[in-house]
Parts: sequence; C-alpha cells; structure tokens
Amino acid sequence: NNTQVYAIFGDPVEHSKSPQMHNSAFEFLNIDAVYKKHHLKDGKKLKEEFLNNLYSGANITVPHKEQAFKQADEVVGIANEIQAVNTYIKKDKKVIAYNTDAPGFLKAIESFKDVNKVLVLGAGGTAKAIALALQEKKIDVTVVNRSDSKLEFFKQKNIKCFSWKDFRLDYFDLVVNSTSAGLKDENLPMNKAQLENVFLNSKYAFDCVYGKETAFLKLAKKEGLKTKDGEDMLLYQGLLAFELFTNTKADNSVVETMRKGLRGE
Ligand code: NDP
Repeated sequence: NNTQVYAIFGDPVEHSKSPQMHNSAFEFLNIDAVYKKHHLKDGKKLKEEFLNNLYSGANITVPHKEQAFKQADEVVGIANEIQAVNTYIKKDKKVIAYNTDAPGFLKAIESFKDVNKVLVLGAGGTAKAIALALQEKKIDVTVVNRSDSKLEFFKQKNIKCFSWKDFRLDYFDLVVNSTSAGLKDENLPMNKAQLENVFLNSKYAFDCVYGKETAFLKLAKKEGLKTKDGEDMLLYQGLLAFELFTNTKADNSVVETMRKGLRGE
C-alpha cells in the first residue's frame, strides 16, 4: 500500500481543523494520502512517534512546537529565529522542520494596505512567530503583554516590548490579538479604556482566534476599524504546509477547497 500518511500532533488535538482541510485537498487533487489526528501527551516522544508511524509529514500544534524545533534534524528559514516549528517533512530518513505560522500570518494580513507599524498583544508562541515575521519584512513592531516574564525573547531580538504597566499610547496601523483572551470567554486582551485609546489611533485589527467574533474584534469594529479573524491565518499556514508535503504550488482552486474543508462545508 503506497498511501502516504500525514498527521497533526497536539494535546488536545480533537478540535483541530487540519485533517478536514488537508484531506479535502488530497481528495480534490486525487492524491493517494490521508491526514490523521495524533494525540500526543509527551512532547519528548514526538520525533520517535513521527518516525515509528512512517508519516511522510506532519503538523505540530499546542503545546509541542518548541519540542518539535529541538528534535528536528534540520530547521529551515525563519523557524530558526522563532525556535518553534509547526511542520515536519521526512526526507531521506531525516526530519526537516518549518514554521508556516509566520508566513501564513503575513499572507492573512495582505488585504490590509500600508501597514508600517504594528502592535502585537501577547507574548506567547504565536506572538513570537508574528513579531519575527513582521520584523523580517522591516515592519515596525511593538509587543505588549500582561506580565513581563515572557518579554526576554523579544528583548534579545531587539523588538520593542512592554508589560501593561509600562506601555505608552502611540499610533499603530494594525493591532493584533495573539493572546488566548476571548478564545473561550468574552475577555479583552487588555484593559478596556487603554484598548479603546489604542483603537482610536489605528486602522486595522486582527485576531488570531477564528470561528467567532471576539470581544476584541467587536470593540475594534465599534471604533470603526477594519477587522479580520484568524481563519485565513489557519488556512494559509495549512496551505503552505500542504505545498511542502506535496512539493507543489497550490492554485486558487486548492485554496478554496481547503477553506471549505476547514469550514466543514
Ligand atoms: P500561549 O499560551 O503561548 O500564549 C498566550 C498569551 O496570551 C500569553 O502572552 C498570555 O499572557 C496571554 N493571555 C492569556 N490570557 C490572557 C488574558 N485574559 N488577558 C491578557 N492576556 C492573556 O498561546 P499561543 O501563542 O500558542 O496562542 C495564542 C492564541 O492564538 C490562541 O487563542 C490560539 O488559538 C491562537 N492561534 C491561532 C492560530 C491561527 O492559525 N489562527 C495559530 C496559532 C494560535 P501572560 O504571559 O501574561 O500569561
């Protein structure tokens, strides 16, 4: 049997939309491949599980992206800076790793024009990928986080960063919510009055959360900003992984097939 097998590793992984996204594209292109969910508790066993299951490629999600980076035989591109990866490819018995969240984010904000100055709320794994993707594009980035414990990474990369208490209001073209505030609740990623002031001085708002309009996006809309949720970021990180898996360049029909797959349509 020559069917190629792909998987997404995570804990939890049940909620992941990646299988439906990739399987719809495999089917559409008549590729003999299947993409599965792989629940993995112990991140230290990631590479071993990947190789033992004879997967051709994989995606890696919360909380294993840093472990995935450490265990890879070779890391390509901006992932070396981010120190976290979401994509594995097997090549000549070696594990090659990529981060497609960073370029996926850049692709997702392409509809926002003239973005030169960005405020990123949050300092977790997603904030690292976003801030470094923007920095590589020579876009001015500022990171603000609730606490200061996660700011060291950004300081080392010469990215301006503050905790809530030290943050001073400024003009930003785009404000990005990369925190998990709003994911399962109606919380804002920052104090409301402060966020309203930020919005009064900006044009666009982007939330990494997808599938719902968060309190962050509702407030941004109320203040007249153009807004976008995280669906395209998820779609494009998946699309870029799919291109690596299949060694192809996906056209628009594949993009739309994957979008439908992701939406369960
Ligand atoms: P992490 O756990 O690494 O980081 C979470 C960050 O959120 C921390 O900076 C934390 O601050 C902050 N935070 C959590 N709760 C609150 C709150 N109530 N108020 C303010 N700040 C808060 O998470 P990730 O970076 O992995 O993921 C972040 C979000 O991005 C998630 O919602 C995830 O679903 C989404 N995501 C979307 C993707 C997409 O493709 N659309 C891809 C990847 C992630 P502190 O340091 O103070 O605790």
